[in-house]
Amino acid sequence: MSEPIAVRATPELHFRYAAGRYGSLFLRGLGEGRILASRCARCPRTLVPPRVACTHCFGKMEEIVEVPPRGTLLAFTLVAFPFLDPFTGVQRPIPYCYGMVQFEGTDNTFQYFLSEKDPSKLRVGQRVEAVFNEVRKGELGDLLHFRALE
Ligand SMILES: [Zn+2]
Repeated sequence: MSEPIAVRATPELHFRYAAGRYGSLFLRGLGEGRILASRCARCPRTLVPPRVACTHCFGKMEEIVEVPPRGTLLAFTLVAFPFLDPFTGVQRPIPYCYGMVQFEGTDNTFQYFLSEKDPSKLRVGQRVEAVFNEVRKGELGDLLHFRALE
């Protein structure tokens, strides 16, 4: 059996796609330094980012509400392998921590970067706060990371 032939290539892929009505609301909110959620008309569920349909009862979620930029860290991990940051297209410096945060007044988790790089300084149940970029453009990258409040 001969060795497989490898071909090196560095593709340049540029994509643009519509964020959708609720996705656009969420991104505009980030551009204003606000976290927006949708509230279900049928059950008490509130979700971030806003969704058209409730993930619990499939009811319409037509009410858009602002939630505090604070929450609770429910899970986290240390990322130590290099890969391209989907926001910038360049390799993100490693290591860094990534977590699942439940914003106050919401019923789901939001996965995002944490400012802490040492997982021994994090714990499940820790209070965290969203940190926004000073210059915002109405895109996901406007949310810099979550930092621990305790
Ligand atoms: Zn519902």
